[in-house]
Amino acid sequence: MRAYNFSAGPSQLPLEVLEEAQRELLDFAGTGMSVTEISHRNKAFSAIVEEGEALLRELLHIPSDYAVLFVQGGASQQFAAVPLNLMHKGKADYIVTGNFAKKAFQEGKIYGDAACVASSEDKTYSYIPDLDKIAFRKNTDYVHICSNNTIFGTRYVEFPKTEAPLVADMSSEILSREVDVSKFGVIYAGAQKNLAPAGVTIVIARRDLIQDPLPACPTMLKWKVQDENGSLYNTPPCFSIYMAVLVLRHLKKLGGVEAINKQNEYKAGLLYDFIDNSSFYKNGVEKKYRSIMNVPFVTPNAELDAKFVKEATASGLVSLKGHRLVGGMRASIYNAMPVEGVTALIAFMQKFEKENAV
Ligand SMILES: *Cc1c(COP(=O)(O)O)cnc(C)c1O
Repeated sequence: MRAYNFSAGPSQLPLEVLEEAQRELLDFAGTGMSVTEISHRNKAFSAIVEEGEALLRELLHIPSDYAVLFVQGGASQQFAAVPLNLMHKGKADYIVTGNFAKKAFQEGKIYGDAACVASSEDKTYSYIPDLDKIAFRKNTDYVHICSNNTIFGTRYVEFPKTEAPLVADMSSEILSREVDVSKFGVIYAGAQKNLAPAGVTIVIARRDLIQDPLPACPTMLKWKVQDENGSLYNTPPCFSIYMAVLVLRHLKKLGGVEAINKQNEYKAGLLYDFIDNSSFYKNGVEKKYRSIMNVPFVTPNAELDAKFVKEATASGLVSLKGHRLVGGMRASIYNAMPVEGVTALIAFMQKFEKENAV
């Protein structure tokens, strides 16, 4: 039996997608070879890359003046690629709303005058700072945000309106809700939360911004080079890209981002309503900013938290342990988590509360 997997990443993939990959594993597109065995220059594979780009453009309504890239190195590599491609004046603003936002900021400081213009660290990243009160600096190359904070379970409801191009790490929410791509200079996302196995990272970048990477930028990190080579400058993470395409086809069949967003809102609503109506469980995030992807929660004490994780695992509800920075539990309920997974979790929470009421 398949477990309900609440891992924050790598996370579960839709069952139909895994089954499709299994069917095709030994003979991909009539080649008589596995997709992991063929050249990335093979026509059957370049068709996959093209389809992936086309599906992303369609599902996210990406304007034609944006590049859509498949790169390696994870979102963490992009923390460096962002300044190396964009920091011409040597100056950028960062909003620090969590651990990954902070890492991006620290990486930015290596390359220039990166400033933290707002942070929610004072309250353990349990909210998003008031965007109207942020004093963005003049003449910056970009403003960097992390749109959904995987560890702390917050997300932006609206995005800041900035003079400089807005750059967003959307690793843990890409394709989970509709965003207006034209409002961003660059969006990037590691795939292993909502899209594919680890190994591929999506970059969506306005082409006029990426024409002139800094001289120190390694060739592999130059978005312009990746764009000119259709993401095939060198050997790409072929299997991850292939799996991303299967996930994108699946998402399109389900009705696209609008449809999955409705389902995500519904799933998150069930879980938050249950937590809010319980005196046993607590979620410490300011309600307005609650993530619909990552839901951290605690029981009355750390001992019960540990017991909860252990017994949930035995019941087939796995990877619920919270991040080491936060403790407690975290249910990551990405696109691939079925409603039944969330209702099974809630049923388990009810039972656990009854047995352990303090
Ligand atoms: C997981 C995650 C990362 C790190 O991704 P890697 O692929 O491990 O580098 C960065 N940002 C966010 C928002 C994430 O959720």
